[in-house]
Amino acid sequence: MELQRVHSFLESSAAARPDKVALVHDGERVSYRQLNRAANLLAGFLVQRGVLPGDRVVILLSNGVKYVASYYGVLKAGAVAVPLNLETGQETLSRLLDELQPAGIVLEQGAGHLLQQFHLAPPSVRFLLAADASFAQGGAHLVWGWDEALTGEELPQGGRTIAPDALASIIYTSGSTGQPKGVMLSHRNIVSNTRSITEYLRLTENDIQMVVLPFFYVMGKSLLNTHMAVGGTVVINNNFAYTASVIRQMAEEGVTGFSGVPSTYAYLLHRSPLASFRDRLPNLRYCTQAGGHMPRDIKERLLQVLPPHTKLFVMYGATEAAARLTYVEPERLPEKLGSIGRAIPGVSVRVLDPHGEELPDGECGELVASGPNIMIGYWNDPEGTARVLDSNGYHTGDLGYRDAEGYLYVTGRKDHLLKVGGHRIDPQEVEEVLMSSGSLLEVVVLGLDDPLLGKKLVALAVPLGGNPSDRSLISFCHGKLPRHKVPGEIRLVAALPKYPSGKIDRVSCLSLCG
Ligand code: ATP
Repeated sequence: MELQRVHSFLESSAAARPDKVALVHDGERVSYRQLNRAANLLAGFLVQRGVLPGDRVVILLSNGVKYVASYYGVLKAGAVAVPLNLETGQETLSRLLDELQPAGIVLEQGAGHLLQQFHLAPPSVRFLLAADASFAQGGAHLVWGWDEALTGEELPQGGRTIAPDALASIIYTSGSTGQPKGVMLSHRNIVSNTRSITEYLRLTENDIQMVVLPFFYVMGKSLLNTHMAVGGTVVINNNFAYTASVIRQMAEEGVTGFSGVPSTYAYLLHRSPLASFRDRLPNLRYCTQAGGHMPRDIKERLLQVLPPHTKLFVMYGATEAAARLTYVEPERLPEKLGSIGRAIPGVSVRVLDPHGEELPDGECGELVASGPNIMIGYWNDPEGTARVLDSNGYHTGDLGYRDAEGYLYVTGRKDHLLKVGGHRIDPQEVEEVLMSSGSLLEVVVLGLDDPLLGKKLVALAVPLGGNPSDRSLISFCHGKLPRHKVPGEIRLVAALPKYPSGKIDRVSCLSLCG
């Protein structure tokens, strides 16, 4: 039977292999049977609280068993799962809760302060489910403790009857180009994308995925769904800063897959001796990278240190695409190192000019994607939706071209283009050159206001060690770039501000430049 609801993945794996370990976290090993039962109990609790199909339920939890049970429980109840970052500031949180008008909130242990004793919770909220027992003793009638909530009736297998096109989840983007946007994804969007990914990664029940990315981020969510779909195991580790312990756990658990954004790999390479990968991870079948442009330098180094049996999948996607749009087959990666590959099964990605006409190979335009994975639209923002969705599909805002073999290349993002003295400059090109110096861990190129040029280029660079001087980096750029693309200033810094997904936060970087 065709599975058309996101929670069907968990249910079918629980039926096929109930005793298989679904999740490993903090010494806890949870079987598919246990996980599915917890999700059924949570769904039963939601129905008891009067949650209706289409109601939003906010999940403010860090990665863990409770998060996963909540996510699938909300979907089984026919409601809409809205995972939010626990580190969201009070002001933004209040704005998001206001626009979401959620029926309930599932809240992390010790995170009660986030809601300032519920003053931030809008009147639509009918319950707060607290993972933290002491918080649950707060006295307000709408607060439930986790253990108390999960002792009621299970919602029977299959959950509520809902259409495949019903809204399943709202996922907020990082807001790198303004306010975070609430991307509305249907069950069909997520199911179709999950299927394509399991197909090209050839995932099976034997796969064991290490997850260091947050589940509220679209890539984290897709790691969860793809592995639940095949009946694999997800190992959750929320301490990526302790890289050595992550690698140790990967070795102990016989992990077959690891995934990250570019900075995940930059830090992994920086902090771990090469032998960590080669000798200690005999089962590591694949590594995947998405979330942003990964400089060639890092890809090359990664290819050198990964065990010979480990395939590196470079991929491209967006929250608006339920996660994934393209990937490079690992066998072609060395010759297509700068590429994001070709569209994943069932999806089309074309290069269009501003009039919506398809451009010939080699010509630069906007990447426009279509397929069953493309979002319904932005929550509460019809104008924003109309700006990016039309009959051609989803306008990604990414600029790029296609080569003669159909491989796509992203040259940069429309919103990041900088106008310097009449020239349009893509910071990605300058960042790529700086990274090729081999002396940097990470770099970001920004445009600061300039009365004469409009913008002037400044780079914030994190040195790898050996203290490269800003002068030597600038002269390195002069050898590789035309004069107008060379940053006027390079500031060496200890670290770059990041979003919790690990992506560089350009807005905060800009304010650092003061
Ligand atoms: P916002 O849309 O609010 O700025 P965001 O950029 O974090 O937030 P995401 O959906 O997480 O939103 O990011 C999608 C974008 O990430 C893509 O449109 C593209 O610019 C970039 N991206 C993802 N993968 C790659 C890749 N492999 N190479 C280059 N860019 C990539």
